[in-house]
Amino acid sequence: MRRTRIVATIGPASDDDRVIKELIGAGVDVFRLSFAHGDIPSGIERLRRIRALAPDLALMVDIPGPKIRAGSFGTTPVELQLASEIELVGGFDEQSTAARISVERLGVLPMLRIGDKIHIGDGGVSLDVISTGKNVRAIVSSGGTVQGKPGLSLPSSILDGRLPTDEDRERLEALRGESFDILAISFVRSAFDIVSVRTVLSRSDVMMMAKIETSEGIENLGEIIEVSDAIMVARGDLGVRMPIEEVPHLQKEIVLQGIRYARPVVVATQMLESMTHAQVPTRAEVTDVANAVLDGASAVMLSGETAIGDDPVGVVVTMDRIIRRAEKSFDYVTWGATLGIQHITDTASHAIRITGAITGAAWRAAMEEDAVAIVACTRSGMTARAISRFRPPMPIVAITPSEATARQMRCSWGVQEIYLSPATDIGDLCDFAVTQIKLSGLAKSGDTVVVMAGSASGGAAITDTVRMIIVP
Ligand code: PEP
Repeated sequence: MRRTRIVATIGPASDDDRVIKELIGAGVDVFRLSFAHGDIPSGIERLRRIRALAPDLALMVDIPGPKIRAGSFGTTPVELQLASEIELVGGFDEQSTAARISVERLGVLPMLRIGDKIHIGDGGVSLDVISTGKNVRAIVSSGGTVQGKPGLSLPSSILDGRLPTDEDRERLEALRGESFDILAISFVRSAFDIVSVRTVLSRSDVMMMAKIETSEGIENLGEIIEVSDAIMVARGDLGVRMPIEEVPHLQKEIVLQGIRYARPVVVATQMLESMTHAQVPTRAEVTDVANAVLDGASAVMLSGETAIGDDPVGVVVTMDRIIRRAEKSFDYVTWGATLGIQHITDTASHAIRITGAITGAAWRAAMEEDAVAIVACTRSGMTARAISRFRPPMPIVAITPSEATARQMRCSWGVQEIYLSPATDIGDLCDFAVTQIKLSGLAKSGDTVVVMAGSASGGAAITDTVRMIIVP
């Protein structure tokens, strides 16, 4: 069983019932739907369609924040030649070409200054501004190919700092009544951004995932983790807004900090980029995916590879193989032992601190007694996420009364079996857990299972009990 999760972005290459079913079969845990492209009604229609096809998977909606996109270059790659001159024009839904790029946000072009750098896509292609005005002229300073509607990274000073943007606010209002599980928030700079977006969405059943992709996001990482439910290392924009050589080290730091505080962390962007068109990945990409697993990522993400690539299913199959092999080399014992005593957050409530302490005790008990599984009875998913941070070598099993929580656990590392049960009595939960684990083949008579649950005295929201059960 694979323990690190796979997130696949849906786009023109995969937005098809047959492909989506095949992607599920190949092992996708989370589908990401970007709301950066297209209008809101078609985004909602797609969300509903994919929810119907994938009722047990987590659906992640990604809102673009102040990201500015170019008008479409079309589906075949367009070469932007080094030293060629390009005109930038403002306009919606206009085609872009190698000589003329339309910029889908009015008002930003007059703010550009001579010498400003504009990165296209995830940073491979860039332009230097050489003349300003209503339309801007720029010279290609790093050439390469572009296709689709790539993002344009303009100097930070041009981006409006407040989240949600007016466009995101409209998207959030439209999404309020829809079924999805995770909201990925782009260009998060502070805890306040997350709190503001959470307030506008007004939903307690959706996980807020902060995309870390700006220098301010790095500076304020601690406070952002505190108020978020999950984190994404969005390496595309991060590598544009920070020196590129910092990216591997930032990835390690963000993963470690996020996991310590029981937040699932997704490592994203260019993981198997060459497979957008090639049948096999580069050796460096294979090593990158394996290293993300060894860094402790909860999930790894595919973007263009599954959204616009030639073989979305083949990419997922390849990623699955790389992860499974890397997990064989993961040092589970050292990871858990190094984590040691660790509060889930600095300002956590009593309930969260107790959950943190109980999961630490459960990890130690399971390791000492060589338990075959650790069971987390969890309403919000926090207990499962808290035990997951120890990366135990044995399967984590979750029992929850909530379908939304069950789906959200598809982005938590190692939560292999998820069962729905409305039970609240700890005895009933233990009986249910043992029956299910036996039925699934994870345990047989005589095996030890560790169960965490909330006792009646602790109140439903507090996981205050660890039991060790010898399977009858
Ligand atoms: C990124 O920049 O790496 C990222 C994941 O964001 P997006 O794909 O939305 O540009």
